[in-house]
Amino acid sequence: MLGAAIVALLAISDFDLTPIRTLRSVHVGGGGTIISTQYNPFAILAIALVGLAIVGAFAWLIARFAPLLASASFASIGGTSSAVARAGQRIERELSKVLELIRGHISSNESYAKSLANAQSRLSELSEGEQVRVIVSLLVAENERMRRDSSELKVKLEESQRQIETLRSNLIEAEEVVLRDPLTGVGNRRCFDIEIEKAIADSRDSGAPLSLVMCDIDHFKRVNDDFGHQVGDEIIKMFSRVIEASVRDGDTVIRYGGEEFAIILPKAGQDVAKSIAERIRRQFESKKLTVRETNQKIGQMTASFGVAEYRSGDDTELLVQRADTKLYDAKSGGRNQVSTYGDN
Ligand code: GH3
Ligand code: MG
Ligand code: MG
Repeated sequence: MLGAAIVALLAISDFDLTPIRTLRSVHVGGGGTIISTQYNPFAILAIALVGLAIVGAFAWLIARFAPLLASASFASIGGTSSAVARAGQRIERELSKVLELIRGHISSNESYAKSLANAQSRLSELSEGEQVRVIVSLLVAENERMRRDSSELKVKLEESQRQIETLRSNLIEAEEVVLRDPLTGVGNRRCFDIEIEKAIADSRDSGAPLSLVMCDIDHFKRVNDDFGHQVGDEIIKMFSRVIEASVRDGDTVIRYGGEEFAIILPKAGQDVAKSIAERIRRQFESKKLTVRETNQKIGQMTASFGVAEYRSGDDTELLVQRADTKLYDAKSGGRNQVSTYGDN
């Protein structure tokens, strides 16, 4: 619509006034000629209509941007990530600029609409061709001003749109960073809080099962003590890869702390969750680990698992607590095992 209005304005501003004005020669006695000017009221009405179309176009522009501006409160997760907060603030600033541009053009449009209305009422009172010509010239000049304003606005809005797109993708990247564990690349505790809340709400709504597995590498301190912290880090990374390879697309793997991981398994009951945990346990214990640089054998590593299925009335804390209780049982039961409710 805005485009159409701009094209119409462009056309009108380059007008040579022929359709608006016609020169009529009247031959009088004695060989003389009188030239009189006649104005076409339809053409003048058309200019007024184009003006109204422009005002309409800007009204449409406002309607389009208003919801965007209203929803411009970008959540910065947990409120602690300065990168996310900064990106959000920059988008808000960019949107304020857009708002300012639109406001400027509203007032410009209002004055344009007033000029048109004024011209229209004066035209109806005028009889002299020369006066009509002056009014039409004013209208054409006003149209030219509006055309320039509109193309400037278009350029500025396009630039703002580009800026907003860039900031939006920066924001998405920043959110990603905030929710990832830098060592393993899986979700971190903040991600856990978000995902478990979502999973519980989905399970409540749909009635589908939901399970949580908490797992922890056995005797990990010894690895750090015997082979150093860096080797310990490599084992944590390897454990996370084993877990990721054993879960489905909709599942979430979280590094919950040190060498402890949480696995959120939507649409999985306790039995399914138990078999997934068993698979991870077997995979992990089957790895033959050596320190690459020194060829030292690390020996078999194992992990323990606690499984809890969501029960109606559970909240995040309770579900985590129940899975943790089972993890503790697996540890005290001798480690390298999966413990679930109903096992003993
Ligand atoms: P358990 O079988 O009871 O789990 O024994 P554990 O030795 O694994 O005991 P615990 O889970 O309490 O110890 C975890 C150790 O993991 C303590 C800490 O030094 C180490 N750790 C925590 N985070 C990291 C990390 O990012 N990298 C490395 N290399 N070690 C870590
Ligand atoms: Mg441990
Ligand atoms: Mg631990």
